[in-house]
Amino acid sequence: MTQEELFKKLIAHCKEYGFIFPSSEIYDGLGAVYDYGQNGVELKNNIKRYWWDSMVKLHENIVGIDAAIFMHPRTWEASGHVAAFNDPLIDNKDSKKRYRADVLIEDYLAKLDEKIEKEVEKARKRFGEAFDEEQYRATSPRVKEISEKRDAVHARFAEALNNNDLAELKQIILDCEVVCPISGTRNWTDVRQFNLMFSTQMGSTAEGANTIYLRPETAQGIFVNYLNVQKTGRMKLPFGIAQIGKAFRNEIVARQFIFRMREFEQMEMQFFVQPGTEMQWWNEWKNTRMAWHRALGFGDENYRFHDHDKLAHYANAATDIEYNFPFGFKDVEGIHSRTDFDLGRHQEYSGKKIQYFDPERGENYVPYVVETSIGVDRMFLQIMSAAYCEEKLENGEERVVLRIPACLAPTKVAVMPLVKKDGLPEKAREIIDSLKFDFNVAYDEKDSIGKRYRRQDAVGTPFCVTVDHQTLEDNTVTVRHRDSMQQERIAIADLYAMVERETSFRELYKKLK
Ligand code: ATP
Repeated sequence: MTQEELFKKLIAHCKEYGFIFPSSEIYDGLGAVYDYGQNGVELKNNIKRYWWDSMVKLHENIVGIDAAIFMHPRTWEASGHVAAFNDPLIDNKDSKKRYRADVLIEDYLAKLDEKIEKEVEKARKRFGEAFDEEQYRATSPRVKEISEKRDAVHARFAEALNNNDLAELKQIILDCEVVCPISGTRNWTDVRQFNLMFSTQMGSTAEGANTIYLRPETAQGIFVNYLNVQKTGRMKLPFGIAQIGKAFRNEIVARQFIFRMREFEQMEMQFFVQPGTEMQWWNEWKNTRMAWHRALGFGDENYRFHDHDKLAHYANAATDIEYNFPFGFKDVEGIHSRTDFDLGRHQEYSGKKIQYFDPERGENYVPYVVETSIGVDRMFLQIMSAAYCEEKLENGEERVVLRIPACLAPTKVAVMPLVKKDGLPEKAREIIDSLKFDFNVAYDEKDSIGKRYRRQDAVGTPFCVTVDHQTLEDNTVTVRHRDSMQQERIAIADLYAMVERETSFRELYKKLK
């Protein structure tokens, strides 16, 4: 199965099993907007909990807030979003399809990278045991040729982005002979800038309505509350403010399912530090965040850092944590050193002094900021991509299993009476009653036990508990484990402790630095 086929199956699975539906689907959906279904919302809430606890619960010096989506319009002038929150767009005149010029070039560069890797793999097969990868990369004329081409395009690309040189971006697309995937032609328009913010009106027009924006990031809600939190919480530097909330971007090209949405959710933490210490904190947060991802156990080799080619207008260092999605390595989270840009600009635009009195230094200054910013939906897709697994069983049957870490799974336990009579359903309900205040529990009495297991595997339920006639005699049940499919007999009296131990976030938190 190709990665593309796998991704299509994953999308279909998300819909079929109540994880994600297209928004307003009965009206044929709305571009790049999605709804979370009965299982999706549970997984999403668990992801948010993992993030929130790892920030707010596990750090004495990080507190949370929940700011409004609407903000004073001056906020977005101060932040630079009105002037500069743009993407370069380009149209293909034949297919009439619109693309992000930077993404077309990034995809072209990724293809060259792929070519290099293919050469290396071919050589590995050819040379067998004796293969020296480092030497091959350094000396193969073919690899050298592709690498030089790649580096030259990359250098031009980075410079064009940093200079906002739209004509050069187009020229790179022409020189690299990038074709439209739909029409297959190179008939491109000029590159234009496109502002990604959604705007709306507040108040009635008669009264003189104000144009306001749907926030394109949650960060600004934190910056404008910096003084409130610092003063009321008597916070000392370094300290952080965390927030989870919706953000909106009028993305030019919405692709890859929930990877790029127009309405999405962010989990952001702004960490305020002494000027001059920001690089140290940036490195620290890079490591902390990487550890958070890796703790989920999806394989360290599937994550990497990728430094930005173009620094945003506010940043002096920026990196992404990328995950190996079915469509390649793509960013899930950004870790940015934002300097004193945001607080400094809000100080200037609001006329209010936004500073910190440092008792050790005996001076006032505008703190520097290191931000960690991750999309809930992208994290959701990352987990689904990593967890989705098709397996052939010993008896020849196939199963789809979601290997979601137990603490994140939407349902923890499914309780199943072997038959719908003889008092077994009643006994199953008793077990549910003993668990339901603390865990998400499902009841299922329909179809054969095998089919019921398959249904629970498909939504990632870690434990199935079967109640049979023996249960009525000795108060034991069969517990079947999702990943190993092993079954064990345990006493009902021990069930609660087992589920608590296996599904708690505790073990995950212990792995974090
Ligand atoms: P990209 O380069 O993919 O457009 P970005 O670098 O502009 O993203 P940031 O502004 O750094 O993204 O946003 C931080 C995080 O928010 C991203 O790492 C991503 O997880 C999430 N995010 C950003 N835009 C979207 C979107 N349109 N849909 C879903 N998640 C998003």
